[in-house]
Order: sequence, then C-alpha cells, then structure tokens
Amino acid sequence: MKKLFNRVFDGSDEMFAIAEKTLNETLKAYPETTPVAMPNTAYFLASHLAYLSKKVTTLGELKACWEETKANWKPHDPRLADVFKCGFGTVLAGEVVEACKYIKSPTPYGEGDNREYWGHMSDAEVRELGVPLVTGDIPGFVVIIGPAPSDEEAAELIKGYQSRAIFVFLIGGIIDQAKRQKLNMNFSVRVVPVGPDLWHVAHIISVVNRAAMIFGNVQPGDRDEFDDYTFKRIRAFVNAYDPVPDLTVAYGGGAIAMGFPVITNSVKDVMVVPKSLIIREDTKDWIETSLEARDIKLKITKVDIPVSFSTAFEGEIIRRPDMAVAFNGTKLPCLEWVTTKEAKDIEDHKIEVIGPDIDTIKEGSDSQIAFVVEVAGKAMQKDFEPVFERRLHHYFNYAEGIMHTGQRDLILVRVSKATIAAGFRAKHFGEILYAKLKGEFEAIIDKVQVKIYTKTEDCERLKKEVNKVYEQRDDRLKSLTDDNVEVFYNCILCQSFSPAHVCVVTPERLGLCGAVSWLDAKATNEIDPNGSCQIVTKERVIDEKLGVWEDVNEAVQQASHGALQAVTLYSIMQDPMTSCGCFECICGLEATTNGVVIVNREHQGKTPVGMSFSELASMTGGGVQTPGFMGHGKQFISSKKFMAAEGGPARIVWMPKALKELVGPKLNATAKELYGIDNFVEMIADETVTEEEPEKLVEFLNGKKHPVLKLEPLM
Ligand code: SF4
Ligand code: ZN
Repeated sequence: MKKLFNRVFDGSDEMFAIAEKTLNETLKAYPETTPVAMPNTAYFLASHLAYLSKKVTTLGELKACWEETKANWKPHDPRLADVFKCGFGTVLAGEVVEACKYIKSPTPYGEGDNREYWGHMSDAEVRELGVPLVTGDIPGFVVIIGPAPSDEEAAELIKGYQSRAIFVFLIGGIIDQAKRQKLNMNFSVRVVPVGPDLWHVAHIISVVNRAAMIFGNVQPGDRDEFDDYTFKRIRAFVNAYDPVPDLTVAYGGGAIAMGFPVITNSVKDVMVVPKSLIIREDTKDWIETSLEARDIKLKITKVDIPVSFSTAFEGEIIRRPDMAVAFNGTKLPCLEWVTTKEAKDIEDHKIEVIGPDIDTIKEGSDSQIAFVVEVAGKAMQKDFEPVFERRLHHYFNYAEGIMHTGQRDLILVRVSKATIAAGFRAKHFGEILYAKLKGEFEAIIDKVQVKIYTKTEDCERLKKEVNKVYEQRDDRLKSLTDDNVEVFYNCILCQSFSPAHVCVVTPERLGLCGAVSWLDAKATNEIDPNGSCQIVTKERVIDEKLGVWEDVNEAVQQASHGALQAVTLYSIMQDPMTSCGCFECICGLEATTNGVVIVNREHQGKTPVGMSFSELASMTGGGVQTPGFMGHGKQFISSKKFMAAEGGPARIVWMPKALKELVGPKLNATAKELYGIDNFVEMIADETVTEEEPEKLVEFLNGKKHPVLKLEPLM
C-alpha cells in the first residue's frame, strides 16, 4: 500500500510536470515580455502574490517565479518535513497552467453567465461574498471533485448543499453531470462550475487568498498567516468522489494544510487523518459529515412551502419564458406593506388570500398583488416598519423560482412555471413572511398575520392608502439627521473577516455595505443590545465639520480592540472611516482635478485615476484607514454629509453612468440645496466622457463649470 504522503508527493510531481510542460510550450510560442493577467483583479496571480509576494505581470516574471517555486517546494524534498506544505507548490503549479491559458485569451472558457466553465473569479465576485459571509447567509464552501457514481447523485449532493446555502464549487466530471441534470449554475446561484481539470482548483484558492488580503488585510508573502486566516475564517471543505488519483490527493493535501477537511469514499491507499481526511463510504452522509467536520451550524428556519428555500437562490433570475406570472408594480397596482397593529387585533400565523389564487392567472401574464403584513409586539416601533418591509425583498428571493426586485408599490415579483407546478400558491408567500419575520425578529415581533390581495379593486384601494404611509415615512426619514438624533450606532458584523473594522452608522451615513441604515442598526440593537450594533453616544464634540466626537472615538477604540484610535465621519482625508471589503462603492482622490472619482462594484472599466474598481478597492480594506480612499454605500453619495469636511458632493468629478442614473435624483436635490446648482449630475463625467484620461476630464469639468474648480486643493 502506497503511503499517503507518497501519494501527495507523486501527485505534486505530476502537477509540477504539467506546469513545466505548459510553461515551456508557452515560452516557445510567446516572448517573455507577453503580459500575464487574470481578468478583473488587482491581485495579479493571487496565489503567487500571496505565497511568493510577487506581482506577476509578464511571462518572463512567471518563469522566474516558477524557478523559485521549484526550488522551494519540490515534491519529495526532505526539507518539507510537513508533507502538506508541498501544497503551496501544487497550487502555484496550477496557477501557472491557468495563467498560460489566459495569455492566449482573456476569456478562455467563454463569456458571461453561460460560459462553459467559470475559471477565474473577479475581485467583485470575491467582494460580493463579504456580507453574506459575515451574516452567516453563506455558512460555508464546498469543493466537490467528481464525477459522482450517477448523474442523479451528483445533482442530489449539489442541491443538498445549495438548499443549505453552502456555496458550491465544482471540479471535474461532475460539471457535465450537473449539466445533464439541467442544474442552473453560475456565481449568483452559488453553484460555480469552476473547470474540468484538477488544477482548476487554483481558481478557488485564488478566491480564498484574495479574501484574506481583501477582508483580512493579510500581507503578501506571509504564508502562515494565509493558512491561519483560511483555517479560522473561511469555512471550506472538500468532497472527493472515488476514484481519487494522486493529483487529487496532492490538492487534498494542500486543502488540509489550509485547514479544509477532505471527505471521500475512496478507501484505496489512503489513511484517515482525524478531522482532516475523513472516509465515508456511504456518500449519503457526506453533507452531515462535512458540516460537522468544519463545525458549521446552519441557521435553519422551517418554511412550509413546496420549493427549496435558501439564501443561495437570492441571485436567481427568472426569465420571461420560464415565468408563470409577474406581479408588476410599474404597470399594475402592486405593493408590500408592513404595518403595526394592536396585539388583540392579530391572530398569529393567520394567512388570508383575498381574491383568486395565483395558479388561475393566465400563464406568462402580468397581474396585481398586495402583500399586507400586520405585526404586533411589545418592543415594536413604527420606525421598524420600513426595516422589516425591506426584508421582504430578501425573503421572497430565497424561495426557489421566485424573483423579487424593487420595493413599496414598485415591486416586481416573478414566479416560475416550475414553482407553480410544484404547488406554490399565494398563501405560501404568507408562510415565508411568517416564518422569517418571526424567526429573525422574535425579540421585537410577537405576532404576525398576512393578507394577500389579488383583486384589482382591492389593490387599487390599498395603493392609495399606503401611499400616504410612504409619504409620512419619507418625511420622518428626512427629519432624521445626524444633528438631531440622540445617538449613533456602530456595526462590527464584518469583524469576523476584518478584525479591526468598525462602521459608525448615522442617519445620514449608512454602513458601507449599503445594507445597514441607522434604523436597521437601531432595530438590530433592540433585538440584541450586546450584538453586532451598539449604541454610540455623541456627546463631547471635538470638530463638527470633520465629524469628530470624543465619544465616537472611544467607541471605535473599544470596538476595534485598540486597533483604531480616531475616526472622522465626514472626511476622507483625515482619519477616514475604515473599509472592510464589502463596500458598494469606492471613492478615491483624483489629483489633477482636486476631486474624487466614485466607482461601484458592478462597473468593470477603468476610471480617470487609471484604476478600475478592483484596483481602487485594493488600495484600502481589511479594516485599515487609508486617507484619500474610502469604501461607502451607494446611498451615501447623495448625503449632505458625503465628504462634508472637504466641500461635500461638489468634489465628485466622475462616476459610471449607471451609478449616476441610480443616485441622480437624490444627488441633484442635495446639490440644489447645498450649492443652488440645478442638474449637478450632468456636471459629473462618466465613461462616455473618458475612461482613463485626466486631461479629457479636466476639459469636461471646465466646460461644465463644475463647482470643484472653485474648491481649495485637497492636498
Ligand atoms: Fe459590515 Fe459595516 Fe455593513 Fe456592518 S455596516 S455589515 S460592519 S459593512
Ligand atoms: Zn464588510
């Protein structure tokens, strides 16, 4: 019987030989000056950066790194006392092979969501994982290496993980099996067909290593810190189907070194390593065994509906041909409304459908609907109604085959044909809302009843009624300013990945992830006063313009365990707030114009500072303060407090067009109020003016008489 470590060495040998051959062939075909890059990342070849501290940009540099890899992690090298350490070399060898592939084409596996394999994942995709990871909405990651014994079993395992919200990466023949089973696979439904060959694992390790740099501020070259971070903070594990060749064993060894247990049904020539290499011949037990091995506890809410319910479905898109019905608030009267009632007026868990059920609607058509959610609770406050109402968007999306966008009376809810065929009816919307609201907000909500109206006249009547409520709420929100509330809140949710990061959330400045407003933070604090959001008092002001309070400083010192000494709430130049990694937007100084560019995560091109979102984003993060760069939420752009210390939103000189459209109306209103300027957004350049040239930007701003021209220099 071949010893396990010999199999690791032999597999690693094999991988080194593949890399050597691929690199030599590439060197024959391309000069050493040929650029080497993975698309949409600021972290070069991320594992080379992580393990060798090298920024590989050309084929020549790749070759030099490869020599270093061979010298350091040659398999069978007696210096590698810990056999699993040769995993570093195996991963780098895989990255070499893939890098060579991306030399030939930036899209070797096709483009968009329907590409054959996913290959490299962008920085934006890595950052997208931030919030769901900290909230536990993604409880862990599985790498499944297969084929499974049958297509059905493959689909069952994948769906089993998906329905538990575990993020699934697929390697090898199991991808074809999943395709034959018609599984929907892409990054947003959290089932990613990474690639057919074992070394495609390198793309997954790249994600993991970038997460350590982005969220954890782990420094390139600090190999032990990378392993420590991945072990402690990334709850990943591997499921490998028999037969397991030496190459898989070699990568499995690497996974174990990173703290990721491997579960397999292969009994040939392997030995058990407690908690790390686990043999389970009965593959039906894999999910349970895996979760246990990685200590993953699932947040389970039992929802009584006939389709799967998991955060993994949040990104699911229902296209028109697959749609049974759309409740479309832009065309017909639709609405969602959470309202407070007296406890005596609510019968807990009562769900009423008033009007015809949804399976009677002509297939493929638009229809109206009104969701009225009545809640009661001793700790319930009127202010929490919009907080709970925004949750409806998420809850509906968790159901398989339901897509929800928009809010209030502008919702769009699509229900798929398959979901109707599975027996989903109007009352199930109510079941979802009941289970989730009661489950998540039990400290506030004692009773919930749901009324679902489907008749036009009811929906029209309710729409008129609720519009008055929306207006009152908007007035209330307008009256909530940083100056007139008694307290702020902090949020430390992201500390599970960025240990030094603290958001200070105020009415005019929401958390940088965009998901936590002052009211959200208030509700979170109400639910658990010792939880992720704590009250921050705002006595002892030091500098009102910069937004500095002694109380706030003390609060961040405490919340960051001393890592942070002081923050300003309204400046990006002096002690700006820290950035974790999951910010919606990043703004950065544009020196020639004395302004800032803002770019959102979705935007892929460059900006006039010469950097893309990913590159700008990599300037900050991991819970550190970086004057001149700051992550923030989209809503913050139109706040009067945005860079208030430096002149406010008048500093904004460039934003992607789509972002301008999104924040336009509010930003225009703010600029009108602050500077008396009409249509300020038209003075801001975008990618149609210039993507990379500061000169063109200056010319444009001059032409528009942009207010930044009159502001003091920033530096
Ligand atoms: Fe993370 Fe800040 Fe959002 Fe809280 S508010 S989840 S700390 S980014
Ligand atoms: Zn974060």
